[in-house]
Amino acid sequence: MKRRIFLGLTATTTGAVLLPQRVLSTNSSAAHKPTRVIVLGAGFAGLAAALKLHDEKVDFCVLESRGRAGGRVFTHLIDTAQDLRVELGAEWVGESHQEIQKLCQRFDIELLNNQFKADLSFRGEYKKTDEWSFTQDWKKKLDGLLGQFKHLTSAQQLSLDRMDWWRFLVNNGIPDDDLFLRELLDSTDFGESIRHVSAFAAMSEYADSSPNNEMDYKMNGGNATLAHKIMEHIGPEKIKLGRHVANIHQQNDKVKVTCENGEVYEGDRLICSIPTFALSKIKWTPALPEAKVSAIDGLQYARINKHAVQFGQRFWPREDFDIITDAPAHYLYHATKNQPGASGALISYSTGDKADLFALSSPQIHQKMIFEALQPLDEAATFYQKSVNYYWGSDAYSRGSYAVYGKGQWFTLRKILSEPFQNIHFAGEHIADWQGFMEGAVATGAAAAEAALA
Ligand SMILES: Cc1cc2nc3c(=O)[nH]c(=O)nc-3n(C[C@H](O)[C@H](O)[C@H](O)COP(=O)(O)OP(=O)(O)OC[C@H]3O[C@@H](n4cnc5c(N)ncnc54)[C@H](O)[C@@H]3O)c2cc1C
Repeated sequence: MKRRIFLGLTATTTGAVLLPQRVLSTNSSAAHKPTRVIVLGAGFAGLAAALKLHDEKVDFCVLESRGRAGGRVFTHLIDTAQDLRVELGAEWVGESHQEIQKLCQRFDIELLNNQFKADLSFRGEYKKTDEWSFTQDWKKKLDGLLGQFKHLTSAQQLSLDRMDWWRFLVNNGIPDDDLFLRELLDSTDFGESIRHVSAFAAMSEYADSSPNNEMDYKMNGGNATLAHKIMEHIGPEKIKLGRHVANIHQQNDKVKVTCENGEVYEGDRLICSIPTFALSKIKWTPALPEAKVSAIDGLQYARINKHAVQFGQRFWPREDFDIITDAPAHYLYHATKNQPGASGALISYSTGDKADLFALSSPQIHQKMIFEALQPLDEAATFYQKSVNYYWGSDAYSRGSYAVYGKGQWFTLRKILSEPFQNIHFAGEHIADWQGFMEGAVATGAAAAEAALA
């Protein structure tokens, strides 16, 4: 889950050119139409770019390091016999996510309701979903502040971006208990503490998202179904898995790409849809502009740990059960909602330092932390079967779950990261309006393909 960035700032006030990706990307040095395009990365951005090239009947190939397509969309079969699937990466498709929804429609993928109602376990007290809320006065005040968000001047937006979300809430008089609750809840959106997140980014999340904060649907069969269907459609042979790109060389209007296994691919455009950590590991000739290198180094990615636990019985009270806790397991939700069977899985979703702690712990401590968080329900230990853990902070290619724009970064780094470099166009969630979402990935992928063809 993540946020939408509301783009209100005008170019003239910042000196920044806040144009859509499509416009930014048409400044390629080459004037001729491409005959062959190379796409780097088979995540949702790379796949959306490939789909567009396929639709436009342009020759292309996709190079992907991993042995699977989907990238940070990672559906895992936790129980083969019962066909139970859990998401170790992206979970929710939002109500406002038009591009993803269109793709699901095109490939005949049903979107199932994946909304939840949160219980709360806080300071040793367990409260059911309808027994807790923020204090009324504060709720009213925040609604007022969010209501003003769209009317902020450019100068006010910039000043908001220079402050962190924690500071903004404190300056606006949030009571202590509400602040702790916001930290618990909002850090699941950003993947890090609210002390690390630009107040502008946070405000735009809460002012502009669907009533359920874009936690609305999941694809039938798991979100990786879309990756598989796009692959089938464009031809699996077009996606070269296990090809880790090590060098990118641009010369004479051609882009030459060398993989770690020694294979070389050549095209006249490249669409690069990989996260910034992976970008920094590539040897570029000529070198990337200094400003881009510095933007790559400046952007952090959130630490999220997902720990899926299968239980022999769904002992939780409702199919739409989730619980926010102040324990290290942090946020737990029913990960097999809409999947029939007696047995089911819960996912513990922890962020920031808690994610680190979870990832570094032994399987015995994992169990202990899960049972501690579920203690109000009492039956977790009885039905525990097995678990699987994925820590995005040490993922080999992203070293994090999604980008976190910190203080003062939204109006500076994103523009630089989006700029094309000679015949290379960039895509990926980290430069999207819908930053941090599958929606942002597919929108930037399609836009980069369009720009490459322009
Ligand atoms: C834990 C978690 C929870 C999330 N929750 C949600 C959610 O609920 N809803 C939502 O919409 N989004 C969510 N997201 C975000 C969503 O997963 C991403 O925004 C989106 O999948 C990113 O797609 P991408 O194509 O930009 O990047 P990626 O999926 O990272 O694709 C890039 C690809 O490039 C490959 N690659 C990297 N380096 C190289 C190289 N040198 N050579 C070749 N290939 C390379 C990688 O292996 C990868 O497959 C979540 C993400 C995580 C991790």
